[in-house]
Amino acid sequence: MNDDKNYVKRIIACIALSVIGLLILNALIMPALTKAPAKETNYSFFLNQVDEGRVTQVKIENEEVRFVVVDDEGNEKRYTTYKMNDPDLVSRLHEHGEIIFNESHQQNSLLINFLLSWVLPIVGFMLLWNLLFKGMAKHMGGNALSFGKSNAKIYVKAQTGKSFDDVAGQDEAKEALEEIVDFLHNPNKYADIGADLPKGALLVGPPGTGKTLLAQAVAGEANVPFFSISGSEFVEMFVGMGAAKVRDLFKQANEKAPCIVFIDEIDTIGKKRDGSLGGNDEREQTLNQLLTEMDGFDGKKGVVILAATNRPESLDPALLRPGRFDRRIPAELPDLAGRVAILKVHAKKVKTEENIDYNAIARATAGASGAELANIINEAALRAVRNGRKLVNQSDLEESVEVVIAGYQRKNAVISQKEKEIIAYHEIGHALVAAKQKDAAPVHKITIIPRTSGALGYTMQVDEGEKFLLTKEEALARIATLTGGRSAEELIFNSCTSGASNDIEQATKLARAMVTRYGMSDSFDMIALETVTNQYLGGDTALACSPETAARIDDEVNSIVRSSHEKAVQILRDNINKLHELAHFLLEKETITGEEFMEILNGSPADATAE
Ligand code: ADP
Ligand code: MG
Ligand code: ZN
Repeated sequence: MNDDKNYVKRIIACIALSVIGLLILNALIMPALTKAPAKETNYSFFLNQVDEGRVTQVKIENEEVRFVVVDDEGNEKRYTTYKMNDPDLVSRLHEHGEIIFNESHQQNSLLINFLLSWVLPIVGFMLLWNLLFKGMAKHMGGNALSFGKSNAKIYVKAQTGKSFDDVAGQDEAKEALEEIVDFLHNPNKYADIGADLPKGALLVGPPGTGKTLLAQAVAGEANVPFFSISGSEFVEMFVGMGAAKVRDLFKQANEKAPCIVFIDEIDTIGKKRDGSLGGNDEREQTLNQLLTEMDGFDGKKGVVILAATNRPESLDPALLRPGRFDRRIPAELPDLAGRVAILKVHAKKVKTEENIDYNAIARATAGASGAELANIINEAALRAVRNGRKLVNQSDLEESVEVVIAGYQRKNAVISQKEKEIIAYHEIGHALVAAKQKDAAPVHKITIIPRTSGALGYTMQVDEGEKFLLTKEEALARIATLTGGRSAEELIFNSCTSGASNDIEQATKLARAMVTRYGMSDSFDMIALETVTNQYLGGDTALACSPETAARIDDEVNSIVRSSHEKAVQILRDNINKLHELAHFLLEKETITGEEFMEILNGSPADATAE
């Protein structure tokens, strides 16, 4: 508020200065510049005219003589000439008593000079300064010169409009947060028994699992003041500003207690202080201030701090010790039931046909986050509109699952018949290998319509239910299925294409994990050869072994993939008639369902030839 006022004052001052500048320009300089043009002439002409009594006015300015001559018709004409060293001039002018003459103008032009050389630059500078100043303030998201004061007025009173009903599938997280809400409603209940509530709770989980949403829901439910700020807002250009903001935030929060303070993406400021030279001073100071403030306030007063991050492993241990963020609330990727619930919550916002099978959609989206599921519903609604329908139906949802997984269909991609054939055999290769192994997930759909993600076709496999464990047999079956596409190409066309690059990547990743993390290889025992460094963001791993062992790992991975590949080739060789038949069917139809696939696969060869 204060800053707003200052800002208005500054604007008014600037406007006033500009107006004054303009007035000066108008009053003094413009007339001088716009004086009627005068003809230049010589001094003898001037003297002649004076003697003839035609001159009515004379002005002597510096080196210049300006004079007005009236001709016979009574017209006034202006002339200028250069002043000569002529001491008689004044007496000569006096002789013709009617001439008005003055020499005082010199002072005026001194004034103009003064204005031009002093006042105008100052005004100019002030305007320039103000412009720079505003630009700078914009860059830094605040008032550039109000050091030590935060301009973040973050106080909102539960206007998020979200409640726990909007969050589906995060039951454990909701339960933990409900306790906090309850504490804020009846602090006495907890004080009576002597319980301290956690000062802070840290929401952790992969992106899009609803951490921010949960915090908003808490605000909506709690009906207490809710301070919300993102970690990046603390990071400023000048050292010390972030710390000042933290101080300010907690001061405001203390005044408004009971209340909730929510710091989103806290890893921005909460990273481990590594003590390396040239570290980020500003960030460390901000973090230190945060630690101090969290210790400083009285937990009984009812200030609860929530924070969210998807990189908990990078947080400073000091933040996580009891008394600070001692409670960790995981927001994991939703399971099958969770996905159904999330789909239903978001489907409420769009108009759908009755009897939509959300379970089928949820089964096809294993591993999808809440944000992705919300996106699927929205894509489906958009597709319904595109197709001129008023209600979303099952096929919209199914198509939008594929859009979210693989991108939009590239309807006008031109692919030659030869390449189409290769792609069809490749996809059927995957599907056949999957279908012929008992540990592989059933085939749901096969398509050779290219997608904007670059996929030229794909085979969708959908598990019957939810799987939490991966057995060694399933892992091997997965790898064999992944190599199935390339195997079919080798078998039929006797060559290989770049189309298998994604399969190769996935197969390698899985085989590697089997060796280094799951202890599923023959040559290593239960040894952790790799550790996952960021669990929630892609799961990058760091090798923790000697170079010799690393070389052995590579050999082991290679041998796993090789034996799976051989197995896949064998399966296809044994079913080569089916491979041909299915590939031609797919070429013709472009998209076939799992049922159609199984029907042909299980039909007798005689049937097939009879067709
Ligand atoms: P993050 O965990 O990255 O902070 P958000 O809370 O911003 O994720 O979630 C993004 C969006 O995804 C939400 O606005 C909501 O529409 C949707 N979403 C995520 N999780 C859920 C959930 N459990 N229930 C309902 N919607 C969810
Ligand atoms: Mg978020
Ligand atoms: Zn493939």
